[in-house]
Amino acid sequence: MTKTITLAHGNGGQENNLLISEVFYKAFKNDILDKSEDAAIIHNGELAFSTDSFTVSPLFFAGGDIGKLAVCGTCNDLAMMGAAPKYLTCSVIIEEGFETRELEKIVRSMKKELEVNGAVIVGGDTKVVPKGSVDKIFINTTGIGEVLKKGISSNSITKDDIIIVNRDIGCHGAAIFVAREGIEMSSSLRSDCESLFPQVKALLDANIDITAMRDATRGGVSAVLNEWAKQSNICVEVEEEKIQVRDEVRGICEMLGFEATALANEGTFILAVKKEDALRAVEILKTFESCKGAAIIANVTDAYTKKVVLNSSWGTKRFLDTPSGELLPRIC
Ligand code: MG
Repeated sequence: MTKTITLAHGNGGQENNLLISEVFYKAFKNDILDKSEDAAIIHNGELAFSTDSFTVSPLFFAGGDIGKLAVCGTCNDLAMMGAAPKYLTCSVIIEEGFETRELEKIVRSMKKELEVNGAVIVGGDTKVVPKGSVDKIFINTTGIGEVLKKGISSNSITKDDIIIVNRDIGCHGAAIFVAREGIEMSSSLRSDCESLFPQVKALLDANIDITAMRDATRGGVSAVLNEWAKQSNICVEVEEEKIQVRDEVRGICEMLGFEATALANEGTFILAVKKEDALRAVEILKTFESCKGAAIIANVTDAYTKKVVLNSSWGTKRFLDTPSGELLPRIC
């Protein structure tokens, strides 16, 4: 570890993983934490439990705001464990001078998104700090969900699974960058910020045999696939051309020098499902407005151990690594 914490330590990629393992996992080590799932599975596998803090800047952006994000973020981590989001807490740290009207707008977004999930806020905390002690508002949400299907785990993926993405990727990272830099874009670029429980529910209702799910937030699709390769001790072989990326997102990637697979998402998830259910899962996802880009993107092989291989449209092969460095801070 470096002597001081850098912005890169919050990137969802390599430095972030190092901070978590060297500081937090080392101190808090236990069997539940060691599973490194999107939400902890507790109470004999019946409940999912997760927390997330939101520091996004700017607070309002195309496709969402910090309130919508704060509910989607925690509820999506519960949904990724096959759980129905139920009870959330909401803690806010507000900077002195923050406009009440903006706060009400944020809370309205939270209420609307809670309804999509069928969840309620059952507790919370409010702190107000002197001007300059925090930038406008930070929100933490913690949630409990009821597990609808037991056994979903990022540690159980095998060669019998096919890997799917629910939509085109990179919209959240690109939309935040555009909003932050004040770039005028005559385009329809919006964050993908969305509650994923309805999609998960549809897959579970159709009895899709799901092995694992993970939302591709910070660190993007690259981070998720690398985490899975390590956790399940597999090689993931990705077909680059199967992953849909909008032209506007590609343009932003070129400006930033990032790959779309490293951009953050807030309504995009990766699923590993049993081979025989893969096509049916894609068809179900495609019935959702935002999921027209749902596709099978990767196979699980034993070509390498704990690696992600990207097969490009040009017929070349390379490793797709966990992103590193200062990606975009305060993306969520
Ligand atoms: Mg997650």
